[in-house]
This record gives sequence, C-alpha cells and structure tokens, in this order.
Amino acid sequence: MGIEEKAPAGFLLTTIEKVAGWSRSRSQWPVTMGLACCAIEMMAAGTPRFDMARFGLEVFRASPRHADLMIVSGRVSHKMAPVVRNIYDQMPEPKWVISMGVCASSGGMFNNYAVVQGVDHIVPVDIYLPGCPPRPEMLINAILALREQVQSSPLGVNREEAARKAEEAALAATPTHQMKGLLA
Ligand code: SF4
Repeated sequence: MGIEEKAPAGFLLTTIEKVAGWSRSRSQWPVTMGLACCAIEMMAAGTPRFDMARFGLEVFRASPRHADLMIVSGRVSHKMAPVVRNIYDQMPEPKWVISMGVCASSGGMFNNYAVVQGVDHIVPVDIYLPGCPPRPEMLINAILALREQVQSSPLGVNREEAARKAEEAALAATPTHQMKGLLA
C-alpha cells in the first residue's frame, strides 16, 4: 500500500532523538540527595499537598545507579564535596543537576572555609534555583524548566560530546559568588 492510501488514517513523522528526549523528560528519577534545610522543602514537594507525582518523578532513588537527576538541596561542606562528586559519577549518563537554594548555588550566607562556594565547582549544574529556601512549587517549576533541556538533548556520541562540553563550560564558568551583578 502506498503512502497516499495510508494518509487518510493519519501518520506521524518524528525522530528517535525527539521520542527519547520526550520519554526521558517525562520519567525522571531523582537521587536522594538532601544536604541541609532545603531538603525539607524538597521532601515537601513529594507530599500530597504539592504532589510532585503529577509530573512523574516522586520516586527518589536510594541508589545513584537508578537515578538521572541530582537535586543538590542545601549547602555543600568541603567534607561532603567528594561524596557529592562520587554519587554524581555513579549516576549513569545522561544525567542532570539542579542546584537548589542559594547555599548550593553560591555558598549563600556561609562565606567561610567550611562550605563550598557553589556546587558548580564540583559538578556541572543545569538549573540554578534561587531562594532560602525555595518553595516546593519553585522546585517543581525548576524541574519543568529542566524538561525543556532534557527534551532537546542529543543522543549517543552527540550526547557524550554535548555533556563533555557542558561540563567543561560549567566548571570553567565564573563562580556565582564572584558575580557581583549591579554591585560590580
Ligand atoms: S538556602 Fe537557606 S534553606 Fe537552603 S540550605 Fe541554605 S540556609 Fe538552608
């Protein structure tokens, strides 16, 4: 049967990359990664009041090997930094990172020797979420914004190349605590 005869029944043209991107963006599995008070808001996002399950990602995985999303919720101490990186390295590709709250993004008010001044020093960050702490709705909004990135992610060797470039760019970027904004 030719395509002209099939056309009235309807057909859809797309690419494997688009289908895979759409599927991944709708079934993200976050790794359990609560570091400080922001983690309470992250946990609240999974409760019935905020119902993160509506978006298909209420199952926080206890093993990084089951997860593709790291939500760094809270300040990262220097003692904890190698652990965070180790967990990130154990997550299979492709993977994404949300830096939740000012402490994770820039050290926040903890400008001292004990706290990493931005988790982007140790892992590449895809979304920075401001606030102290950000509300659960803000976290859900950040996850929905991340979906747009996940959906347009390339596959295979293109993905590896894109991930390598993104990590290089993220690690070379100006640390957020050095960004002065209007104070420059
Ligand atoms: S941003 Fe605020 S709520 Fe989050 S870890 Fe820092 S102090 Fe705690």
